[in-house]
Amino acid sequence: MAVRQIRQIGDEVLRKKSKEVTEITPKVVELIEDMIETMYGAQGVGLAAPQVGILKRIVVIDVGEGPIILINPVIIEKSGSEAAEEGCLSVLGRKGIVERPTFVKVKALNEDGDEVEYEGTGLLARAFCHEIDHLEGVIYVDIMTEEVEVEEDIDEE
Ligand code: ZN
Repeated sequence: MAVRQIRQIGDEVLRKKSKEVTEITPKVVELIEDMIETMYGAQGVGLAAPQVGILKRIVVIDVGEGPIILINPVIIEKSGSEAAEEGCLSVLGRKGIVERPTFVKVKALNEDGDEVEYEGTGLLARAFCHEIDHLEGVIYVDIMTEEVEVEEDIDEE
């Protein structure tokens, strides 16, 4: 496994639409493992393949309940609405308020190619929407209602 470079806003790859995964090859599995390591390394709760420069419909998420792997994810149900703060590993040093559903159900494939469904509320519902947006080339700053002032990190190093 390896940590991959996370692309930052301004990089064209983040604005492109990702392609469906048609076959879960060893290369795809390696990408997923790298994405999980990269997400943990950056202390993020989610990462989409275009953020590491790969235009494939793959998302990894961990909101503190273990990693969730979504290949070709589709939102099949959503309800409610909640405005809350959001950030992104591709938009470092910024935060914004984004309105998202409070409940989201997604269907996807796991890394064995089996169809899986997940239901999420709150942060997990938000993460599903945020990461799936990345697959369409959408970044939260496009849809935020308000930018939030971020205190500068005190970096001791
Ligand atoms: Zn993001």
